Amino acid sequence: MTVSYLDERTGLDLRAAEDAVADLLRALGQDVDSEHLRGTPARVARSFAELLTPSTFSPTSFPNRQGYDELVVARDIPFHSLCEHHLLPFRGVAHVGYLPGGRFLGLSKLARVVEMFARRLQVQERLTQQVAHWLEEQLEPKGVGVVLEAEHLCMSLRGVRSTGALTVTSALTGIMREDARTRTEFLALTRQRRQG
Ligand code: ZN
Repeated sequence: MTVSYLDERTGLDLRAAEDAVADLLRALGQDVDSEHLRGTPARVARSFAELLTPSTFSPTSFPNRQGYDELVVARDIPFHSLCEHHLLPFRGVAHVGYLPGGRFLGLSKLARVVEMFARRLQVQERLTQQVAHWLEEQLEPKGVGVVLEAEHLCMSLRGVRSTGALTVTSALTGIMREDARTRTEFLALTRQRRQG
């Protein structure tokens, strides 16, 4: 009978994860009882717990009283996530923008929104969509643009071995999708860094 150490908030059971990592190491032909690996199952379990637990935050938004209607863009937000197909990290930068409608969100909060959806098992396309949908719902903006550029360890370490290759995904909604000028302006802003 195994005792459950389930964390109510996160749904994580660290002790069970630790046992599972030890089993995995054994299945991979490793000597879990050796001095070198003794602490590994606990460390791996804690690492995964950290990678899968976003810090909580309150998404305080503000009414757009001045009727501000220019693009708000946060560029090069660093993020990392965990690929749900291989349990290997993918990491890179996010560019998040919106054309304000009724409400504003503090710029620093845009990074927290990315983190909230990145700290779980993900695929990059879904992560991109989730960030965009969340902003749509919370801010009711005129349009949202999210571009993610990331390197996937599952791609660069195995298979195609394209080290440094970036996967780029985007989600555009509302006027950001429909109006060519707004879309071009947003995408140009996200490209500034890449072009130097
Ligand atoms: Zn993968």
